[in-house]
Amino acid sequence: MKRMRNAKIVATLGPASSDEETVNELYESGADVFRLNFSHGTQDDHKLRYQIIRALEAKHRHPIGILLDLQGPKLRVGEFKNGHTLLNVGQAFRLDLSSRPGDNTRAPLPHPEVFQALQADTELLLDDGKIRLRVTKCGSDTAETTVITGGKLSNHKGLNVPSVELDLTPLTEKDHKDLRFGLELGVDWVALSFIQRPEDIAEARKLIAGRAGVMAKLEKPLALQHLEEIVNLSDSVMVARGDLGVEVPPEEVPALQKRIVHACRQGGKPVVVATQMLESMIHAPTPTRAEASDVATAIYDGVDAVMLSAESAVGSFPVEAVTMMDRIIYQVEEDPHYRKLMEAERHAPEATAADAITTAARQVAATISAAAIVTFSSTGSTTLRAARERPASSILGLTPRADTARKMALAWGVNSVQTEDLHTFGDMVVTAMTAVKQEDFAEPGDAIVITAGVPFGTPGATNILRIAWVE
Ligand code: PGA
Ligand code: MN
Repeated sequence: MKRMRNAKIVATLGPASSDEETVNELYESGADVFRLNFSHGTQDDHKLRYQIIRALEAKHRHPIGILLDLQGPKLRVGEFKNGHTLLNVGQAFRLDLSSRPGDNTRAPLPHPEVFQALQADTELLLDDGKIRLRVTKCGSDTAETTVITGGKLSNHKGLNVPSVELDLTPLTEKDHKDLRFGLELGVDWVALSFIQRPEDIAEARKLIAGRAGVMAKLEKPLALQHLEEIVNLSDSVMVARGDLGVEVPPEEVPALQKRIVHACRQGGKPVVVATQMLESMIHAPTPTRAEASDVATAIYDGVDAVMLSAESAVGSFPVEAVTMMDRIIYQVEEDPHYRKLMEAERHAPEATAADAITTAARQVAATISAAAIVTFSSTGSTTLRAARERPASSILGLTPRADTARKMALAWGVNSVQTEDLHTFGDMVVTAMTAVKQEDFAEPGDAIVITAGVPFGTPGATNILRIAWVE
């Protein structure tokens, strides 16, 4: 199934969207990649979803990306005697390592690494920043605080400590188990939550060992101090505005989003903008004007994908939410101003043969109004360089590898097709022709621009640019 838009849609599956029929509807209305959020649900839940997606993929004969999102070192308070307590502004409140249930004077916080890092005046945010505490005194297993913003605090609510680098393991024991499980299933992307340092990615990369693409979720301000390095070490990035917007004030999120998107486009790494994009559609069949505008802005910025979380996972209108995103993307991409923006923010090629060929391919395609740029790429790396050019022509990414085709479902403008390995120059042209016709990208008489590498089968050797006319 061919989609005529560039930006992609990532839809999170959850209780509202886990039966075969709904997943199929989500796919048909525009979801390109499905996200399995391991912060919720059991491994069995996710396995079922995985199987439904792969069955759909076979039915539609179209590669679909699957993103495993690891929970990461999310900090949470423990439990209360009554399940919750009410905190008043100005009162004292203690956090400690004791496992006794909490009350109005204290709560268990089972994270020794937090106590090690706290100092007087450090701010602690609870329940997505709704409650704020300021540390007055702290030791190795306890912290005395004053309540700055009060409210109801209940069992297992999240804790954010924005300004402090914590000695967190980037992958918890649960993450290790979920990662093994997901890789065994065959997920295409793995998202790492709450990374703080480039080393966190390096460590995960070693474990994943090329079996899936590594997506860095940027949701801690400290990670932004190493933005370029993190982009370099990752295969893709998520602007995780939910937690990021707790750790920094909301007015700082838009500029950070732009900075991250810019760095990713510079590096040629797919970038996903996530969280609250169509938030009100959790309960309503149409979005607010501001939400429609938020999705549109991301598309005008040239992001690779926009994401739905609760809207598709637990909302009442999952299919409507995907449909709405799809419509917004099409509308923006038809705007002549959008094309102008893609032309205006183009990043200079790197000094590699692949970039030299890819930039040339974009120029040639524009000059002769080619119907498509066809890339042959086994790992997808050359295809991603073509996407980095944000060309006006469609990109058809041909690859002998199913995992590459699936991974590319996340990338701007890329339509992936799995083909046979190439052996000769003649093979290359014939395979490209067949694919563009089959996928409806070109008609007889249209020009296509092909990039590939000889000798065939040598990854990273892109060195050919060929124009062909479809017969
Ligand atoms: P989450 O990540 O949904 O796993 O928290 C996204 C975000 O924080 O925005
Ligand atoms: Mn998050």
